[in-house]
Amino acid sequence: MIPSAFDYERVDTVDGALASLAEHGDEAKLLAGGHSLIPLMKMRLAAPAVLVDVGRVQELSFIRDTGDHLAIGALTRHRDLEVSPVLAEHAPLLAHAASHVGDPQVRHRGTIGGSLAHADPASDLPAAVLAMGGTLVAQGPGGERLIPATGFFRGFLESVLEPTEMLVEIRIPKLTGAGWSFQKFTRRAQDWAIVGVAAVHSATHTGVGLVNMGTTPLLATAVVEALEGGASPEDAATLAAVGTEPPTDDNGTAAYREHLARVLVRRALQEAVPLTVADD
Ligand SMILES: Cc1cc2nc3c(=O)[nH]c(=O)nc-3n(C[C@H](O)[C@H](O)[C@H](O)COP(=O)(O)OP(=O)(O)OC[C@H]3O[C@@H](n4cnc5c(N)ncnc54)[C@H](O)[C@@H]3O)c2cc1C
Repeated sequence: MIPSAFDYERVDTVDGALASLAEHGDEAKLLAGGHSLIPLMKMRLAAPAVLVDVGRVQELSFIRDTGDHLAIGALTRHRDLEVSPVLAEHAPLLAHAASHVGDPQVRHRGTIGGSLAHADPASDLPAAVLAMGGTLVAQGPGGERLIPATGFFRGFLESVLEPTEMLVEIRIPKLTGAGWSFQKFTRRAQDWAIVGVAAVHSATHTGVGLVNMGTTPLLATAVVEALEGGASPEDAATLAAVGTEPPTDDNGTAAYREHLARVLVRRALQEAVPLTVADD
């Protein structure tokens, strides 16, 4: 399929991108890796009048250790997350989740900012960022605002970003030495998750993110509350589908996904939480 006609602008700086967004408003879309937006445009599910190509904005491609947290530029590509020594040490869950996104071509083009801004419940990185308690930094005409990942996803493919705002940075608390697990259930290698689970556990923080279990990326809140209340990982995992609304599609029914979520959360917790009973 061929996208509808659009104008194309290429910018090299954040200021340039914000100026274009201010000029065109909701007629414009940022183009980062293009690996979610272009397929939508080809299916005519998105038809922006202007594409603002930010793929060469170098200032937003970084992974920094800032002391108590990690700062990741919105245009950092999945492959850079996958091989980052900083993430390997302080946020291995994110590096590992990135290594499971699509295939090498997708990982060399797609960006973490694009993955989050696209707000696809089937995407892997939003669940990992939710589980780790990340914060998103948006920049717009009014300056910068910090948005907790828990308040970022508004609906299916919809975030709280304004049309004139750009996601510039993702902040992840350093959870050095925390237990973690990423479970992605697919029919074939390199597929999207039928259901996925990103879990992290330390003395100070437990988070369990769910992939493809509703209209937005989700946290398994009931599971975490049960764990914090003293439940075993196995008992807590039975609550994995509470508050979810998984889709029914060619890959499985909603009931099948609920079952998968319980199984995958149990496996994830058994891996992430020390001294738990072995999987059966
Ligand atoms: C074959 C294939 C397989 C894939 N498999 C997986 C998978 O297994 N798991 C997975 O998680 N993902 C998968 N993806 C999606 C991939 O991860 C995308 O790269 C990612 O979801 C979007 O990132 P992008 O940089 O390509 O964004 P784009 O496609 O360029 O943009 C996506 C949306 O985000 C907006 N946007 C981009 N950057 C910003 C920003 N900085 N600020 C504000 N808005 C912004 C755009 O305007 C657009 O609306 C797959 C994609 C393909 C094509």
